[in-house]
Amino acid sequence: MRLLLVAPAWPRESLWGQIVFRFPYLSLTTLAALTGDEWEVRLTDENVESIDFADHPDLVGISVMTPLARRAYEIADRFRSEGVPVVLGGIHPTMMEEEARAHADVVVTGEAEAVWATLLEDFRAGRLKPLYRARDFVSMERFPVPRRELLKKKAYFFTNTIQTSRGCPFDCDFCSVTSFYGRTYRVRPVEDVVEEIEQMGGGFLFFVDDNIAGKPRYAKDLFRALIPLRVKWFSQASLSMVKDAELLDLARRSGCKGLFIGFESLSQEMLRAMGKSVNRVSEYRDAVRRLHDHGIGIQGSFIFGTDQDDTSVFSDVMRFIEAAHLEAAIFSILTPFPGTRIRDALLREGRVLHSEWDRYDMNHVVFQPKRMSPDALQEGFHWAYRRLYGYRSITKRLFPFTRNGLFYGIQNWGFRRAWRQTLGVSP
Ligand code: SF4
Repeated sequence: MRLLLVAPAWPRESLWGQIVFRFPYLSLTTLAALTGDEWEVRLTDENVESIDFADHPDLVGISVMTPLARRAYEIADRFRSEGVPVVLGGIHPTMMEEEARAHADVVVTGEAEAVWATLLEDFRAGRLKPLYRARDFVSMERFPVPRRELLKKKAYFFTNTIQTSRGCPFDCDFCSVTSFYGRTYRVRPVEDVVEEIEQMGGGFLFFVDDNIAGKPRYAKDLFRALIPLRVKWFSQASLSMVKDAELLDLARRSGCKGLFIGFESLSQEMLRAMGKSVNRVSEYRDAVRRLHDHGIGIQGSFIFGTDQDDTSVFSDVMRFIEAAHLEAAIFSILTPFPGTRIRDALLREGRVLHSEWDRYDMNHVVFQPKRMSPDALQEGFHWAYRRLYGYRSITKRLFPFTRNGLFYGIQNWGFRRAWRQTLGVSP
């Protein structure tokens, strides 16, 4: 039997559709690892290769995030019209079950790993159900090692992505991590993580965890175990990490070279309103200094368009980024993703402009902001990116190139190129 797993393409007009530093998603390689030997598994990431619609596998599985939903449904409809049954799973079908069912033979809600074996067994026995609801959160004990050999390795910036935990101890209004993974923070045994890294051959790693330091005691054990492996790693963490000197020191000694940090806003009022009060704006500069003192570069994440933001937010954020010498940053337009409390609130207030999912990429305004027009928000977002990835700002932020200057130099160049291509400006 033949199974095709598909990651749909990002829309070309999305910044993410232009990014050259692609990492593969672990969800499909992990499902492949949970698929029995009786299946021949292929994986097509449409961001790096085309789908061969002339080939008809026995079953197709598609992983769907909200901005990819339109394309995912097109792919599903095409395979189904040719008689190939399609399974849709992932965060979007979980939150928009009825919508997804119109394009699938089977919808999986929740963590697909929990029901995958049953689903495949039902397929073999000819009793496939239209809906598989994963009610339990999967254990991270003996978590399967993703089948990375299925990836077209040369098409990616690197394939050494690895996961140590799922979930986040926090529950911000705009984020769907907790509504999908529950208010649980589950971690893999450290020895399993070390074994997988050794299989991968070490080198550069990207831990795709939503918050690698969500459980400080576990993170310390993990970092201690990484030290003898002599790897260099990047990940995402919340700012609470910098308050623990031992944790920070172990991160440095274990090879942490950069962290993606969600600052989100310079307004404490906004952070409180959005449930992210773990962040203290008054402590930002000190937190940045401490990370930099440990040789850790920072990619800051900021949200534009909250109810506290007027048009001054763009220049305020840019001033902070440059004064703090953040090596890189990502801007997101506030986006009411299905399953988030912010969507419920904006729908109640009649402020969601539309549900064209491919515009739900955090680069497009899809709701009515409170203190500026949608156009002003969109233009301000572009202005901030234009300035951030202009040569003047890059030089100012990275100078004197002491913290992983080469890596962040390439990263800034890549984002500059992706952003300009998104806007149709020659790179
Ligand atoms: S801290 Fe980050 S990952 Fe956790 S809920 Fe908030 S935005 Fe989501």
